[in-house]
Order: sequence, then C-alpha cells, then structure tokens
Amino acid sequence: MAKDFYETLGVSKKASQDEIKKAHRKLVGKYHPDRNPDDKNAEEKFKEVQAAYDTLSDPEKRKTYDSGGGLFGGGGGAPGGNPFGGQGAPQGFGDIFSTIFNRSGGGGPEPMRGRDLETDARISFDDAMAGSQLTVTIPKDERCPTCSGSGAEPGTSPQTCPRCSGSGVEAQGQGFFSISQPCPQCGGSGQIIPSPCHTCGGSGVTHQTKRYKVNIPAGVKDGTRIRVAGKGEAGMRGAPAGDLFVTIQVAPSPIFKRLDDGNLEVDVPITITEALRGGTVEVPTLSGTKRIRVGAGTQHGAIQRLRGEGPPRAGTKKRGDIRYRLSVVIPKELNDEQRRAVDALAEATNGDDPRAELLRSARARSPKGSDD
Ligand SMILES: [Zn+2]
Ligand SMILES: [Zn+2]
Repeated sequence: MAKDFYETLGVSKKASQDEIKKAHRKLVGKYHPDRNPDDKNAEEKFKEVQAAYDTLSDPEKRKTYDSGGGLFGGGGGAPGGNPFGGQGAPQGFGDIFSTIFNRSGGGGPEPMRGRDLETDARISFDDAMAGSQLTVTIPKDERCPTCSGSGAEPGTSPQTCPRCSGSGVEAQGQGFFSISQPCPQCGGSGQIIPSPCHTCGGSGVTHQTKRYKVNIPAGVKDGTRIRVAGKGEAGMRGAPAGDLFVTIQVAPSPIFKRLDDGNLEVDVPITITEALRGGTVEVPTLSGTKRIRVGAGTQHGAIQRLRGEGPPRAGTKKRGDIRYRLSVVIPKELNDEQRRAVDALAEATNGDDPRAELLRSARARSPKGSDD
C-alpha cells in the first residue's frame, strides 16, 4: 500500500518546509499514541506521518523521493511495533538508516530489537478487585524527533569523517608495530556531524519521560507482571521496539486476606449467644455487606462461605468465594446480670463434661491409674 508522502501530510508537492512542519505538528498532535491509547489505526497513521515527515523535512531525502518515488512505497510497519522505530519508515530507506545508525556504533549494522523496560506500579486492593486503568511514567531513550535519529540538524546531513575517510580507525606507529585506534576526530564512528541537531546535541537520541496507560484486569494478584507490547526502548535499524513490563503491587486490604487458592478470607467475630443460638450476621463483601447464616452451636473457627462473591478469576467470567472465619468473642468482664445468667447456664449444663473422653483415654494409658 504505497502512500504518497504529500498526501499523508495533506500538503501540496510544492509545499514549503514551514508548511510541512506545520502539517506534521498538527497530525502528530492528532494521532499521538499517548492521546489514542490502544488505537491501532491512530498508531498506524502516526507512523505514516512520521515516515512522511522523515523524508519531506529533509531537503536531500525529499529530492530523492521526488525523483523516484516508487522506491519509497509502503510505510506500514509491523503491527504492535513502536511508533518511533525505523520499521515505520518505508522500504528503500534501509541504506540511509544503516548509514545513520552506524554512527552510534555498538552492535554492528544488523537490526537490533529495543531493550525491554521494567517498572513497578502500586494499586489499591479495591482497584485490583474491580480492575482499573493506570498510567505509568517511565524515562526512556527515544529516537530524537527533530533529527529522526541522525543527530544532524534538519536540512543538514552527517558527513564522512575526513580524517579517517569513514573507516573510524587510525593507524599509529610505523611498519611492523603500527596499532589501530579509534579515530580521534569522529570517535570511531566514521562520520562527523557538521551541524549537530539542536534538540539532541547530535546524539540522535533524546531522554524522555513517557506515559502509558496500562489496563489492569479485575482480580489481578500481587506480583503480576503485565506486558505492554512495543512500549520498551526503540529498536535500531528498523528492528521492533522492546516491550514494557509492569509489575503490579497490590496494597493489602484491612478487611480481606487473599488466599493462595485465589479466594478471600475475612475474620468475623461473633458473640457467645450468636454461636449458641445461631442467627444471621452482617459481613463485608467486595460490594458492600451481606447477611450470612450462622448455625446454632457454631464452633469457634468455623468457616462459612459466600460462593461467587470473591475476586474475578483471570480469563474467566467466574468469581472466587469469600470465606468467613467465625471467631467466638469471650467477654473479659461480666456485669451482675450477665454473671447471674452465666451462673444459671452453668447450673443448667451441670454434668456436661467436654473432657470426659480425653481423660478416660489419659487414665487408661497411665500404669497406676489416676488418684483423682
Ligand atoms: Zn536530534
Ligand atoms: Zn574519523
């Protein structure tokens, strides 16, 4: 799908550099990935605009393009790639890019995938349960937007180093003992930049702070690593960008404890009389409160559960459970009325011995029996 660069920017073939710049600025504002998160169309447009601007903003490249446009067709780029990487550039650019990138050395002329980036993000327990979107801010090196990575001020080009004729090395000494060392004028890159780009100072890279929106799936667990494809560092020589990995830290909840099986647990205090007589008690849920039944004769530590009220299970429409651990609260002090009631209860239950079985076994094991 060969796209005409002038058409892409919406300018005429005779447009001035100023008109091209203005059109570019307008379109970049419109299609910038930060403004259109997860919008593949906008990302695609953005890449096309950048590729068109790469060429038309540079008088030399523009001249080449004008004279033999066919060579430059197809500014697509791989899906999910980064908006700044070279793969957004049209084919036929390869030679120019490899020349440019040779300057920065390291890794040879082969395409090199961008580095993956790692960051942490802390979210509240409620956001982890409900799912949310958060914005992560990460510093990263991006291809300089002013010079498109060449390091040369727009309108100028890097030139072959006159001292080493582009070899990047210089021989020192004579005859048998000559040694090669990096050319002092170009630093070994083989190129010099007569007018360094005013934005990046000639490095071709700018240090930027990027913001990305990250979708947090409902029910996410503490420590989950979320991959944001193509938002790592820019690739070199047309290679795809790396990925961004966001490790989610979920703040603990004062109410709910997350169990290893994905369910939640809550400690619910109940009174002696609730434990004895049963009834319903109000308990917290993820969306307010509900009442659960407590059976008559509930034991300390007994578990009641509300099925399907727990965290969403990743990748399914199902939800886990909330387990309520009932703990019987024993009053530390009694008033007179309570004391009389407890005395009456003791009287009424006189003869119940919960330890009878335990002690019968203990006595049977003792060689001499017990002396009570
Ligand atoms: Zn620059
Ligand atoms: Zn040199």
